[in-house]
Amino acid sequence: MRTLLITHDVFAEHDTGRHHPERPARLVAAVAGARAGAASLLELEAPQVRSELLAAVHDPAYIAAVERFCLAGGGALDPDTVAVPASWEAALRSAGAGHLAVERLRAGEADNAFLAVRPPGHHAERSRAMGFCLFNNIAVVAQELVDGGERVAIVDWDVHHGNGTEVMFEGSPDVFYVSFHQYPFYPGTGSSADEGVGAGAGYTLNLPFPPGTAGDVYRRAMAEVVVPALQRFAPDWILVSAGYDAHADDPLAELRLLPSDYARMAVGLAAVVGPGRTVYFLEGGYDLAAIESSVAATLRGAAGGSVPDESLRSMSPAAAHEVIERVGHAARRADE
Ligand SMILES: [Zn+2]
Repeated sequence: MRTLLITHDVFAEHDTGRHHPERPARLVAAVAGARAGAASLLELEAPQVRSELLAAVHDPAYIAAVERFCLAGGGALDPDTVAVPASWEAALRSAGAGHLAVERLRAGEADNAFLAVRPPGHHAERSRAMGFCLFNNIAVVAQELVDGGERVAIVDWDVHHGNGTEVMFEGSPDVFYVSFHQYPFYPGTGSSADEGVGAGAGYTLNLPFPPGTAGDVYRRAMAEVVVPALQRFAPDWILVSAGYDAHADDPLAELRLLPSDYARMAVGLAAVVGPGRTVYFLEGGYDLAAIESSVAATLRGAAGGSVPDESLRSMSPAAAHEVIERVGHAARRADE
């Protein structure tokens, strides 16, 4: 099992300031985790995104405004989202990594890809930077694949709801968006009642979990709801918004996942598409040791390798199990 690892040195120059959780050391941890978890790695540099691919998901006026803002010295784009001049190149390469991953996977050079990129992407909307994100990296690739006639599932296991990704594809029956997240929580979206709109109705699946939710519930949701829904959708590609801030040690959130839970989710996804059709995009995750061990576990799970089970599971509150029952009924009803 071979993994493409795509990253770039410029990501370290996206300087968010001394006390910002979304910091360069996160990528050092993610790269170390990929090197530890993958049986074989092919490491590549992230290229800059092609302008027409970026303009397919972001307003050209917004793209130009981000460029001007960064190159003029940067500052705060919103209360959480800061940029410096080098953030412009970092954002272009973060948004360009996915295209290279798809191209190399199609050529049969690896079995999956992990993109160690920053800034992250899933909160970025068509004309708005937010939540540490400038451009929606995963949406750029999903749109390119859909425009080529393929079907795409996006599985977002970052602890925050991917509001930007959901809103970009909520009207599309060709992109199935699934999000596991803490709720209610930043950014406020992600209710289980949001299931897509118009032709996209039924192609958004939100799993909003209360604080304290642990891996027992994530595994159950994957097995009982998500994998069956993905198998019915039959995607050509699975793109994963792989944030690691649902880990028990993460300082920003209150869920309790452990590395083996990420491994189990990766095993579940590997049952849906064949080799060479899964791309993991790093999103959030703010505890360095948790990132490293969880990225390694993800890649071991994706390869079907064994991952030791930690204790501490089977402890989710009853309300978390009720979310699975509620969302599972709705997903099956939508299917009838
Ligand atoms: Zn997050």
